Amino acid sequence: MNASAQPGASVGDRVFLPRRAVCPGSFDPVTNGHLDIINRAADLYDELVVAVFINMTKSSLFMVDERREMLTEAIAAKPNVRIDVFQGLVVDYCRAHQIPVIVKGLRAISDFDYELQMAQMNRGLAGVDTLFMPTNPEYSFLASSLVKEIANWGGDVTALVPPLVNKRLAERAASRRPGGTGGSEGSDGGG
Ligand code: ADP
Repeated sequence: MNASAQPGASVGDRVFLPRRAVCPGSFDPVTNGHLDIINRAADLYDELVVAVFINMTKSSLFMVDERREMLTEAIAAKPNVRIDVFQGLVVDYCRAHQIPVIVKGLRAISDFDYELQMAQMNRGLAGVDTLFMPTNPEYSFLASSLVKEIANWGGDVTALVPPLVNKRLAERAASRRPGGTGGSEGSDGGG
């Protein structure tokens, strides 16, 4: 894009549309690995949507509204990022919101095998491209599932997640201990 043109502005007969991308995922819960990718992607695009997947079948620890709230707090400093929720195919979400690019973080070859297949399918289905960003090596082992497991057993995940997530995980873990309030494991039913 012309460095002096603002998104949406026209210069001569050219209209500069905002460059949009989406970061889709479960974010159950958001980790510092996700945030690293989101922040880097936000520096590359005019508008970045972090789209939280509502999964009716897979049980999640946090309800979709809680996942959204934790993400909203964690990305508060990035004015060009917004959080949304979606259900169904990412490419349908992209079509509905005129988003041509999906951003995915890659941790290891195991991510790549799966993500390459998805990316090729999405391009074939809808012409939506995928940008792969290599994870910061500091976070290459980090996954939401691992964080939940550690926190559930009382391990310290302070360095792995934003402060609100740390707090919510500790509350969930405490509620599961004998004498706790039990905690609610979420299906997103209706999200
Ligand atoms: P997870 O795989 O942790 O359950 P999600 O389904 O929420 O996470 O993942 C959404 C996206 O974030 C995926 O593209 C995934 O590769 C990426 N991602 C997850 N954890 C990391 C990490 N530690 N570093 C880079 N990318 C990550």
